[in-house]
Amino acid sequence: MEPLPCKYRSVAPRQLLNLTALVFLIVSLRSEHATTGDSLPLRWMDFHEIVRLSATERNRLRRETGISDQELREVERVDRDVIYRVPVHYRAALQDGDYRIVGDPPFRFIDPDISVRHLSQDLRVWMSGYKDALLVEKILFALAERFPDITRLETIGQTHEGRPILALKIARNPAEQRNRPTVLLAGAHHGNEPLSVDYVLDFAYFLLYGTPAFEEEEGVIARSFRETFYRQTNAVGTEFFRQREHEDILDNFVIWCVPLVNADGLDSFWYRNVYSGRKNARDTTAPPGWNKEDGVDLNRNYPYQWDSGYEGSSSGEGRSLYFRGPTPASEPEVAAIMQLAERERFALALSFHCYATKILVPYTAEEATNPRPHVAWRLGQQLARAGISNRPDRDYVAVKNLYAVDGTDQDFLFHRYGTLAFIVEGSYLSPDYEPFGRLSIRGVRPIILRALQAFREGPVVTVYTTDEESQPLTAVVTIEEYDYYEGESFETRPRTGRFDFLLERPGVVTVQANRDGYLAARQRVQCNGGACEAHLKLTPVSSR
Ligand SMILES: [Zn+2]
Repeated sequence: MEPLPCKYRSVAPRQLLNLTALVFLIVSLRSEHATTGDSLPLRWMDFHEIVRLSATERNRLRRETGISDQELREVERVDRDVIYRVPVHYRAALQDGDYRIVGDPPFRFIDPDISVRHLSQDLRVWMSGYKDALLVEKILFALAERFPDITRLETIGQTHEGRPILALKIARNPAEQRNRPTVLLAGAHHGNEPLSVDYVLDFAYFLLYGTPAFEEEEGVIARSFRETFYRQTNAVGTEFFRQREHEDILDNFVIWCVPLVNADGLDSFWYRNVYSGRKNARDTTAPPGWNKEDGVDLNRNYPYQWDSGYEGSSSGEGRSLYFRGPTPASEPEVAAIMQLAERERFALALSFHCYATKILVPYTAEEATNPRPHVAWRLGQQLARAGISNRPDRDYVAVKNLYAVDGTDQDFLFHRYGTLAFIVEGSYLSPDYEPFGRLSIRGVRPIILRALQAFREGPVVTVYTTDEESQPLTAVVTIEEYDYYEGESFETRPRTGRFDFLLERPGVVTVQANRDGYLAARQRVQCNGGACEAHLKLTPVSSR
């Protein structure tokens, strides 16, 4: 590898330490990748093993492997045994020596420092590692308290186990907010994907403070890592964000952050075992009470194409990881998001998952036919180009889905409200937070920024429907040149009569508005870029 440029040499001791570790990592990653191709450290189990040892076993392990005290990280005492986290390269020795490997640990064994973060009163400490439900709450309350003028924290629902589902609204100048596109950033429909929580919280922090939570200390390291190891550059990715871009966003959008949709799942992941975190806490298997296989896959429970019948899309079996739930939208977490969407009518929605490194573009259900032109596909490709995986083996790409699915949030939002709704599958699955988790978070930021920029750059036609007195009047709006095949019907928003159409390309389109008892209204709009407007006044049939 190349020597580091001089400007990186005068760094603080802690950074130097990190930098040394990083260089080591880069070298080892590269050689590993070159030789085996499939042993990249992307998930927690690529870094750690959890083992339960008696005092005798501990001594035996020391003798057999020479493992040091530093490598034996005590995470819990059980009776007279101790549970340790050890580096993954001892795995073979543990298996060969018949040691008691804990194959299904709670994530607190992997990341025991969560208890240190709990004790802190400092937001930046809370932000500095993986979050459980308690830390997500603390962070959201802290942000709302520090920025009361531009935030509002709402409880939009409650989980089966009684945890609040929290939504943080971020926008400047409240008086003008009604007349802006609204955006949803949602994390952790699957509670075993804690990085997806971070993608949302990191962006919320950036919007409010104007700087990412860990940019100063980490920027040098991340940049050198990317430039040395992963040579992707593009306009957004290189600079990450333009000067004062967060202010532009605050002034022109209403951003809703729901970092933790599945709070019960995340809690199971941290405090029961990592594998039970995907689903929520509905009791779906016998015996009564909590069982490891309980729960509904929230991203199969949305009503559009729920139980589509397409093979393998979801399961009707309560113990399946893909259990769709007893009825469409049966789950409180799903109902909470749907109610928020009904009220806010998101123009754009990003739902974060881990770790395929892909942008999933609606429709993701196999048998749903996409509209023509397929504007979401074009935007999805732009988001993939903006994303920086910080992985040596793959870049972000846009795809329809990873495998057959139905009942997903993005298909529901796209079909019901015309929301340009994407699933962003990040690039790692709960790896060591330093540096890999942070690198993954950092590489998602430009995806969110690109999505917002697309709405600023346009071409976007903003339609307003009003009555004869110019008061907002909701109506179904269409672009005559655009075709839909799934019975989509998009209404302008109740309070404002507004709807935003992102266009496929600059040019002339014909906007039409329809409402029962009113004559259809049409307007041709030349839209060459940026934001264009169409004002459609609806006249009652009887008045003619
Ligand atoms: Zn997921």
